[in-house]
Formats: sequence, structure tokens, C-alpha cells
Amino acid sequence: MCGVMGYVGDRACRDILFNGLKRLEYRGYDSAGIAVLDRDNVISLVKAKGKLDALQGKLEQLPSEATIGIGHTRWATHGKPATKNAHPHAIESIAIVHNGIIENYTDLKTGLEAGGVAFKSDTDTEVVLHLLSRELEEIKDTKKAIISLAKKLKGAFSLGLILPFEPEAVYVVKQGSPMAIGKGNGENLFASDVAALVDHTKKALFLEDGEFARITSDDVRVWDFNGKVIDRDFTEIEWSAESVEKRGYAHYMLKEIHEQSSVISKAVSKLVDESGKINTDALGLEGIELSRVKNIHILACGTAFISGMIARYAFESLAGMPTNVELASEFRYRKPVVDDTSLVIAVTQSGETMDTLESTKYAKSCGAQVYCLSNVPYSSISREADGLLLMDCGPEIGVASTKAFTAMVLYQYALAWGIATRVSGKVSVAESDLVSCLRTLPTKIDIALGQESKIRAIAEKYFESHNFLYVGRGAHFPLALEGALKLKEISYIHAEGYASGELKHGPIALIDKDMPIMALAPKDSYYEKTLSNIEQITARNGRVIGVGTEGDNKLADICDDVILVPAATIEVLQSIITVVPLQIFSYYMALLRGTDVDQPRNLAKSVTVE
Ligand code: GLU
Repeated sequence: MCGVMGYVGDRACRDILFNGLKRLEYRGYDSAGIAVLDRDNVISLVKAKGKLDALQGKLEQLPSEATIGIGHTRWATHGKPATKNAHPHAIESIAIVHNGIIENYTDLKTGLEAGGVAFKSDTDTEVVLHLLSRELEEIKDTKKAIISLAKKLKGAFSLGLILPFEPEAVYVVKQGSPMAIGKGNGENLFASDVAALVDHTKKALFLEDGEFARITSDDVRVWDFNGKVIDRDFTEIEWSAESVEKRGYAHYMLKEIHEQSSVISKAVSKLVDESGKINTDALGLEGIELSRVKNIHILACGTAFISGMIARYAFESLAGMPTNVELASEFRYRKPVVDDTSLVIAVTQSGETMDTLESTKYAKSCGAQVYCLSNVPYSSISREADGLLLMDCGPEIGVASTKAFTAMVLYQYALAWGIATRVSGKVSVAESDLVSCLRTLPTKIDIALGQESKIRAIAEKYFESHNFLYVGRGAHFPLALEGALKLKEISYIHAEGYASGELKHGPIALIDKDMPIMALAPKDSYYEKTLSNIEQITARNGRVIGVGTEGDNKLADICDDVILVPAATIEVLQSIITVVPLQIFSYYMALLRGTDVDQPRNLAKSVTVE
């Protein structure tokens, strides 16, 4: 959450910083600011409440010739979104941007106030500013002052600093939240995410927790919090500048929905070799001692958690493993039964989700082996991993996850299949059946995508609804949760997902003509039961949108509207196709209601706070 960015070089940096923040805006967008050093090495600062557009109008107030500066786009944790709380925070000798939460800020603030410091904002970040100022006054050595500061802070603090008395350098500190340093030609940059760097460089160095760096236009030096020099190479960034553009789509979310067939196609070519065999070597299982795995815990949040709920059907039915799917934010706060017979599968698009990261570390401390499924290279979760699979979906920038979800389902299915074959040598789904199912998925997703205008027309009938229910059975139960989550996230319509069979145990009481229901009814082994559930809804005047599979001519007789998608030959993998109309439906519902699809209120992508 929150994006930080910095520049030092020989180019005017005002627009470089602003455009970089645009790339990071998905991480937070309640206020933003930029600080630069002017010709006389004096800090010049602009801030604005709201999205970056509000800051744009103030950019002219910054000196156009400045070549060193830092910027921030905020997702408030302490203090309301307001100009005074926007970063950078500055005094004469320091300007600072911060991503994270200072957990001991109250104690530190009390101490600083007792020493006469007057605070101007309600943020935890301002504590860091004044504390660093005090350290610098006492220690008079920037490196030592930063080390001393870091030892006094608890929580997550990835920081960017400019110090007028060192006008040639920016400093960055990394603890908890991500920090990448980009190496340019006669210039260097830093950012929370390489998406902000790819316009300028393809080389990045990723700081690890407990490290900080001094960055000048031609040099980057890294130390740890004990002052030890860290020698780390820059690595090649694979994401292109183009991959972080909207490429003609009105929104990133729509672009990412449409990318799903190519994402799945790329995944399938990774998973299936030329001879038509599943390439289990691509699963990243080498570091996992499968012989000691007796149970699986999938730890994740939000959409990733739902992907795990779907994958559970595969881990149990293919690999015969007792599988617990758990919200990462809850897992470590009870006494989960996890030990050295457990395999933890941490699923996180960004690889930085704090809840997932912390619960994974907890499971590891109990002896569990850790396997991570993520989309972002060099992320924090990868450092915990005994086994790692990078999904390689390209950057997902829309806050509502789409392509990462379908990739998560696919890769976890392949993982379950791979574990099953490696552990027992046999598996209930034949390799040739899996391969032929996988190979047809991209085309089937394309066919589902082709129904966009029809789905938009359905959304036009329902967009004024205040509530929605989503129901499904089997792996389509979690998919109902995902459909409801997508609708909530971007259209702000209250929506709930239920197992179809659960309706009669409570939620059926909600049904009337004002409660539309999205019923997921593919022709799978539960089909007849699902139809009966739909009949129970229509008998109570509920309006039903049925989402079924091609060739179904019963569904249209009992539903008000019907969307049919191609059938997958493996039931669990059907969710990869059926989710497409659910995503498109939410998109158009949001569009018709005039909400901000890519930056929905209160949300941010990559949740790096607990
Ligand atoms: N805790 C800081 C604040 O509320 C930083 C939040 C962020 O990471 O955006 O200002």
C-alpha cells in the first residue's frame, strides 16, 4: 500500500516523479505529494488531497529545474486523507516519504513532544521525521543516524529521504514494504514497484528488510542496519513499459480481463512440454520434501483466498491431502495445527501481502515447509519460500484482481496434480485428459470474452440494484464468493456469495423481486441439484441470471437472463472460464454506476499493512 518514488540525476525530475506516481497510484490514492531540492538546496514541496490529478495542478509550484526529489501516493493508515497528512513530510533539513506503519509511534511521539517537538500532521510518519532530525543532530553522520533511527522504529517502514545538506543523494530504507532501486544512465531512481521504473531503466536492485541505501546519480551503496556493506547485483526487469500501459482499454481492469486468454495460454505452454506431457519440473517443487507432507494449508487473502478455496477441490481429490484454506489475517492469531508434516501454500499476487507474509513466517517457525505462488519477482514472500512458482501474468494494476485469479486457479490445480503424481505415482485425472483440457482453455476464455456486449446489456437491466446474491455448488461455490467480491469491490453493491445448498438454511429469506441472483449452473455433477435451487428462488419471485455452459437449453426456461460459456472437460477448471462473465458483469455494473473501476474507494492493491 502507498507508493514511494525518488529520482537523482541530471534531468528535471518534477514530471518524472509525477509520472512515476501515476504508475504507483493503484497502491494508494487518497492524497499525494512531491518534494524536490531547488537550486539553493532548499526543500520545495507540494501536496494535495485526493487522486493524483489534484496534485497535477500544483506541480508548477515546484522548481522546474530540480534534479533530485521524492514523491508519494498515500493510502492512509494514521490520520485522515488530508493535505496536512499527505507525504512528503518535511522540516528544513529533511523531507521524507514513508510506506508502512510505525507501530510504536505513540510512545515515540510522546517522547518527542515532551522534548518540545510540535507535530503538524496526524500521521505516524511524522514521528520518523523528527526522530531522524534528532538523531542527525546528535550523531552528525547520516549513515549512523539512519541505523540508530531504524533500531528505534517498530513496524513497517520503507522510507525515501532527501537531506538538503547532502544535495547529491537520496536515501532509502527498507523494512516491511517493498523497495526497488533502478539504475539509469547518469541517473538513479527508487520506487515501491518496478512499474514506476520501467520507463527509465531495465535494471533494478531489490532491497531486503533491514537494509538501506545511499543513491546518487552515478552510485548506489547498500548497508544493513548493522552498518555492514551489502554487495548485491542489479537484475534485469522483465516487465516492459508497454505492459504497464492501458493499451487502448478504458481501464486496467478491462485490459486485464481481456489478457486472460494469453495469460492462461502462456501458463499452459509452461506446464505442458512439447511431447504433450505435464512438465512438473516447472512447478518449483524441488526444494519441497514431499515425503513428509501429510497436510496442506493454503494461506491467502481476498481473491487469492478464493482461488485457494477452489484449489482445495483439487488438492483433496487429486492428491488426497487434507487441505485447510485459511484467511491469512486469522491464521496466526489462533493455534493452528501446523508442524513439519505441513505444506503451507502462500498465495499472493504481489508477494507483499503483509497478512500472508506474516502467517507464512509463523507456519515456518512451526516447522512447516513453505511453497509460494506469486506474480511479482523478488517479492518478500519469495524469501520465505522452500518452493516458488512465479505466475508471470505481467503487471496486474487494476485493484480488483482478474488475471491473477485465473492464473492462481490454474497453477494450483497443476500443483495438486504434480504433488499427486510425485507422491503416489498415480492420479485420478489422466495426464492426457489434463493436457487436452488445458490446451483448450485459452480459446474457451476467448469465447467467453466474446460475450461482452451481451453481458453489458444484462448489466444495464440490473445496475440500479442495491443487493445481489451469487450462488454455486462445488468449486462454483467459491466462485460465487469471487463474483460477489468483484461486484462489491468496484460497484459498491452489497453482494454475498452462498453455496446453493445453503440457501434454504437462511439466505432464502432475503429473496424477493428486488434481490437479483447470479446462479452459477454449469453442466457438472451438481447440475440437477443446482437447477432445483434455482427453481426454489424463482418460486419466491427472485430474478435469476443463470451462468451455464454451452448447449444448455433448460437454464433459459427458468432464468430471467442466461449467459452460456464453453464447458471445460475438468470440473474444477470450469471456474477459469465461468469467472470471465462474472468479471465483465461487475465491470459494467461499476461503469454504469459511475464508480472508479481501477481505483475503488477505500481499497488499494498490494496490502502491505495488517
Ligand atoms: N502510515 C503512513 C500514513 O498513514 C503511511 C501510509 C502508507 O503506507 O501510505 O501516512
